[in-house]
Amino acid sequence: MLQGEMGSKLTTQATKQEKCYDPGDKTLKFVDGEDVLDFLCEDFKSPRAQMSCGHAVTPTSLTNWCLRQLDQGDSRFVCGQFGCGVEWPYVEVCKMALLTPEEKKYFEQTLAFNAARENFLIKASSLLFHHF
Ligand SMILES: [Zn+2]
Repeated sequence: MLQGEMGSKLTTQATKQEKCYDPGDKTLKFVDGEDVLDFLCEDFKSPRAQMSCGHAVTPTSLTNWCLRQLDQGDSRFVCGQFGCGVEWPYVEVCKMALLTPEEKKYFEQTLAFNAARENFLIKASSLLFHHF
């Protein structure tokens, strides 16, 4: 049995440690708004910061959202707020999601892979179009 730990709160997010903005970071614009990417209502503890499109995010929600887009085969990142759809540059995602070196590596590899596949599909469909 675990001693002394049974009373402490166990969260379901044990697999992923929550990232948190440094409140003293002057390069970030902190806002009071809702975390627009917190689709699962996980209510992240980090202060919210504003993206270039004007929506508030937290580093963990932003990381999860961008990972989802990569998994769907996207080679760019767009805001998940309904009706927004502004594209964020990778450098902004990097900074705002507080990506770790491992995450950066994964993001860059997947971006390159997805972009290459997209190019291939565009070429392939234009060839098909040409032929028929
Ligand atoms: Zn937005």
